[in-house]
Amino acid sequence: MDLTSIHPKVTPIYQTSVFKFSSLAELEDYYTTPGRKGLYGYSRSEHPNSDELVAEVARLEGAAGGVATGAGLAGLLAAVLATCQAGDHVLCPAELYGGSVVLLSQELSRLGIETTYVPLAQLYDLAQHRKPNTKLVLAEVLSNPLLTVLDGPRLAQACREQGIKLLIDSSFTSPMLTRPLDWGADMVWHSATKYLAGHSDVTAGVVVANDPALNKRLRQVATNLGLMLAPLDSWLAVRGLKTLRLRMRQHSENALAVARFLAKHPAVAEVFYPGLETHPGHDLAEAQLLNGLYGGMLSLRLANDTVAAADDFVQRTKLFPLAPSLAGVASSCSYPTATSHRGLSEEQRQDLGITPGVLRLSVGIEEPAELLADLGQALD
Ligand SMILES: *Cc1c(COP(=O)(O)O)cnc(C)c1O
Repeated sequence: MDLTSIHPKVTPIYQTSVFKFSSLAELEDYYTTPGRKGLYGYSRSEHPNSDELVAEVARLEGAAGGVATGAGLAGLLAAVLATCQAGDHVLCPAELYGGSVVLLSQELSRLGIETTYVPLAQLYDLAQHRKPNTKLVLAEVLSNPLLTVLDGPRLAQACREQGIKLLIDSSFTSPMLTRPLDWGADMVWHSATKYLAGHSDVTAGVVVANDPALNKRLRQVATNLGLMLAPLDSWLAVRGLKTLRLRMRQHSENALAVARFLAKHPAVAEVFYPGLETHPGHDLAEAQLLNGLYGGMLSLRLANDTVAAADDFVQRTKLFPLAPSLAGVASSCSYPTATSHRGLSEEQRQDLGITPGVLRLSVGIEEPAELLADLGQALD
């Protein structure tokens, strides 16, 4: 079969686990030529669909390369194993995403990689909190669920001074809002399950970096541990990425409209959205986030700060279904007390400001008037 005269506009899905070689010389070329231009061997190591995804994310982030993984968390695993070994230490903000905490503190700790957490506001004082064996700092641009804003350039400078690598989880913002490598971060990590793919139909991760040695290690770790994202999932993420710019504009525009609406509603005590002037991180967000966008994530605290009132809301809303993920084109709602922060005691949650009436909204790209009407009827 001769396919050389077929020129599809869109990259096909290379649903194959292995590729053919025409000669031993070509096979030798594959193993010895750096970059192995145009040659593929085995899909656990690389395949055209994941390469296309990584190339596109790297272009958006201003990176030289990276790796795509079967879930966001597999990307974190690749990033940690590419930079740390047994005996090393990772430092994170206390506000870190729960799944990252579980991977670091329950799994990697058993392999001798230790993690400690300090409140984000204190993390910038790295000289105070680092240990002699600290190799990596992991931080998020916007925290979950109260949208605390990271001062990225400040943290990157502190890491540089201390000779510690910085990994930024950019899942809540995407490269439309932040380009952490420009701050001086070493790696950018995405749960591509979220905004990059954007349609709630795939789980995927991407880690990108500039340092060629780091990118080589990321790919080796992903190959050796079988972390590689599959062809179909890579293809879906690439398709989602094509509308990232449009989606992030609409997510942000809608979220600002929702935040302003909720801030005025008597059933709502507090709204957490960095685009609101009242948010403690607003000035930082305004100075740091790109394109005048603040993203699609926000949280609210009900005036009636109880589980019963929160349950009432999730049962009444039609456009914000209770679905514990985020960043899809269709809006959704999550309840941090029962999902991301369920492992904490009530007192620990209280300390973080996560009271029973706190709900997190992922604002989609629907007609904004329809979202406001639905929220209005659910809250009234
Ligand atoms: C969802 C999420 C992750 C983990 O990604 P998965 O694709 O679920 O593995 C990491 N960080 C943040 C901020 C997330 O929201």
